[in-house]
Amino acid sequence: MATADALLKPDHASRRQHFIFTEEHDQLRESIHSFVVKELAPHAEEWEETTFPDWVFRRMGELGFLGLSYPEEYGGQGGDYYCNLVLAEEMTHANCGGLAMGVAVHTDMATPPIFLFGSEQQKQDYLVPSINGEKISCLGISEPDAGSDVAGIKTRAVRDGDDWVINGSKTFITNGHRADYIVLVTKTEPDLGYDGFSLFVVDMDLPGVVREKKLEKLGMHASDTALLAFQDVRVPADALLGQEGKGFYHIMWELQGERLIGAAGCVAGAQKLFDRTLRYASERNAFGRPIGKFQAIRHKFADMATKIEAGRQMVYTTAWRVQNGEYPVREVSMAKLYTARMACEVADECLQIHGGAGYMKEYGIERAWRDLRLNRIGAGTDEVMLDVIGRSYGL
Ligand SMILES: Cc1cc2nc3c(=O)[nH]c(=O)nc-3n(C[C@H](O)[C@H](O)[C@H](O)COP(=O)(O)OP(=O)(O)OC[C@H]3O[C@@H](n4cnc5c(N)ncnc54)[C@H](O)[C@@H]3O)c2cc1C
Repeated sequence: MATADALLKPDHASRRQHFIFTEEHDQLRESIHSFVVKELAPHAEEWEETTFPDWVFRRMGELGFLGLSYPEEYGGQGGDYYCNLVLAEEMTHANCGGLAMGVAVHTDMATPPIFLFGSEQQKQDYLVPSINGEKISCLGISEPDAGSDVAGIKTRAVRDGDDWVINGSKTFITNGHRADYIVLVTKTEPDLGYDGFSLFVVDMDLPGVVREKKLEKLGMHASDTALLAFQDVRVPADALLGQEGKGFYHIMWELQGERLIGAAGCVAGAQKLFDRTLRYASERNAFGRPIGKFQAIRHKFADMATKIEAGRQMVYTTAWRVQNGEYPVREVSMAKLYTARMACEVADECLQIHGGAGYMKEYGIERAWRDLRLNRIGAGTDEVMLDVIGRSYGL
């Protein structure tokens, strides 16, 4: 509590530590930050051209960063959900959106369903080597004819004796070119509606798995994005992940983690742009004064800071709900929607405040502007989030 004396002067310089984080989280943050700044950030430019190399996974596995909240028995660090937020936030300091996304797909999208729904054997075969960085994962939901409409996917898995035979295609798959395995969403009983989906863990070197095309994109250049085909891919019965027929519900659960971690990345990304632009506005002069001293610019900062803070509170409060056992789909959707929009607005304002420099490659603002734009599309578009929120009120 502030004392009466302190009330006389606002404490703008306080640490403002959020109540969900402890000293252990701070230590973790420091060690991830130092790794990211020393070992990843120096390569950001190069990886925009080449995509980031696979050694990043091995190195992060070695350091224990790929299994922060997984139990120690699987090689994880046994931490809480907030550790995943710390990782997502600190990865933004690599200045390389594609890298942060490639890692997040592995830690917070493809491996969680294996941990929650997988058999003990699947955990040993896929989760353990993913945590130590030996195996790289990807997640296959989207298809050329079905993205937002997950229920409209066409990839089929048909039982054949003890095996399953899979046919179909997946697109926009992050890590799809480098991955050792894919967590794949299929239809097993098309006539059963939402009860006709099943997940599989499929090795990417099986006959019939074709990495068709490396897709070119607006931003996130450091990540690889694949169009994949599955042509009579035969997998054994134990490749089924979770309950047969319950894949739709399993993947909807997965999407909540994917959305919340994306929201954390949006807040951290926006904050980083804000900080850099604040420095720029103090150094850049026009009409005889730093541009930050113009009211028009000062108000832009005030507006951005308020929105970033609102986004942060949404993410942290929703994370607290998750950590405490809730399944807060409405709040996750709100956090995802709000922070994705907010990060794009902040990136645009920061670019504007940089003037012509913001449009130039060397300042890195244009790249962040391009990278962040994905957040209004990936993991569920703005429109889909609005629909989920609206429907949650029975409409
Ligand atoms: C760089 C990148 C990486 C990705 N990585 C992965 C990945 O690793 N794995 C994976 O499975 N997918 C991945 N995706 C796919 C991503 O999740 C989809 O692009 C997203 O869900 C939108 O689907 P869509 O592109 O098919 O758009 P569509 O579903 O075709 O939507 C087109 C437009 O219609 C709107 N729309 C659709 N339905 C409605 C509705 N009911 N009401 C109102 N508007 C609607 C959408 O909001 C959008 O504006 C990635 C995408 C990108 C761009």
